[in-house]
Amino acid sequence: MRDINTLHPKLQDLLYALKAECEKQGLKIGISECLRTKEEQDRLYAKGRTEKGSIVTNAKGSSYSSMHQWGVAFDFYRNDGSGAYENGDKFFEKIGKIGKSLGLFWGGDFKSIKDLPHFQLADWGVTPAKLKAEYKTPENFFKTWENNAMTVEEQRKFNALVKQVEELTLAKERIYHYTKELPDWARPTVQKLLDRGIYSGVSDSDLDLPETLMRVLVINDRAGLYK
Ligand SMILES: [Zn+2]
Repeated sequence: MRDINTLHPKLQDLLYALKAECEKQGLKIGISECLRTKEEQDRLYAKGRTEKGSIVTNAKGSSYSSMHQWGVAFDFYRNDGSGAYENGDKFFEKIGKIGKSLGLFWGGDFKSIKDLPHFQLADWGVTPAKLKAEYKTPENFFKTWENNAMTVEEQRKFNALVKQVEELTLAKERIYHYTKELPDWARPTVQKLLDRGIYSGVSDSDLDLPETLMRVLVINDRAGLYK
């Protein structure tokens, strides 16, 4: 249950990033529950119901309604000697904030039973409804993990690259190829230059006219250069 290697690869990356960031801020955490089997979930569900103690979960084992059963959640505890769940100084809120800044979903944001020492991947929503609809059982879901999941670092680089391409696409100058594409304010000028043979594109049918050049031509025309 405490084996980090049983978690979704992306969650493992985020978990290590979380631990590192917490340590940097002087907050020591340990990792407790990771992947939970059906039987383990049933035992937890019995607490406060058929067994003594207080209710700790709303999720039955057979319903696969805990994110822990899908390998996309883990729990943590305080590991600095002041007590595993000591929260007088809002320790768990601080960790929650760090985790959220990394893109994790924090259990303190659950609408029903708040779960301060809990994190999960934000990719599949708050409950396993989506996972259940798509994969039916955790076993089917595990098979999709393989090695094709990007690491956090790869994801970061990939996102940066996508952004760069988007910016380049936006920055790229528009080239006009056909007279019918031309804006109304430029068409008479371009037509005039074509008619007089002052401007010609790469062929009769292709203007190959960059936006900037078109603007200069129109300015010149308005200045009376092509009378
Ligand atoms: Zn949990």
